[in-house]
Amino acid sequence: MAVMNFIPTALKNLLKPPVTTSYPFEPAEYPERSRGHISIEIDNCIGCGMCTRACPLGALKVDKNAGTWEIDRFDCVVCGYCVEKCPKKCLFVQPGYQTPGGEKTPSFYQKSPEVLAAEEEKRKEAARKAAELKAKKEAEAKAAQTAENADKKD
Ligand code: SF4
Ligand code: SF4
Repeated sequence: MAVMNFIPTALKNLLKPPVTTSYPFEPAEYPERSRGHISIEIDNCIGCGMCTRACPLGALKVDKNAGTWEIDRFDCVVCGYCVEKCPKKCLFVQPGYQTPGGEKTPSFYQKSPEVLAAEEEKRKEAARKAAELKAKKEAEAKAAQTAENADKKD
């Protein structure tokens, strides 16, 4: 007779959509704030290394000159410290896990050639301006010294 108590619940559930998904035949749905993996918008990274210093596991490597950023996902615990410390806000905690692989290789990211070329151009421009400023200051100092010497002779 106790079985009869479940009949209303069973009938109600028959009219509801299923609460489960057909993964892996359908894409997995992750809760919005779940900590799946860290992602980067590499073209916005300035290579400052703040993320590497914040990481308690030493899971990150940054090479400013080469424009590269690496993460060892086997070491990363998705604590999010690197995301908090990034001054350019180009790191993110994403829901969802990475595709499993057969080898323990770090994930490697490199800036696009266009961005690298633009940054190189900026560096050259800054170096040219610094050289110009230095030459100007030297010329001014030399002129001041010449004037001082001339005053002494008079
Ligand atoms: S999320 Fe935490 S463990 Fe993972 S790379 Fe960032 S700081 Fe390191
Ligand atoms: S903290 Fe942000 S900007 Fe700095 S190296 Fe890391 S990812 Fe790049």
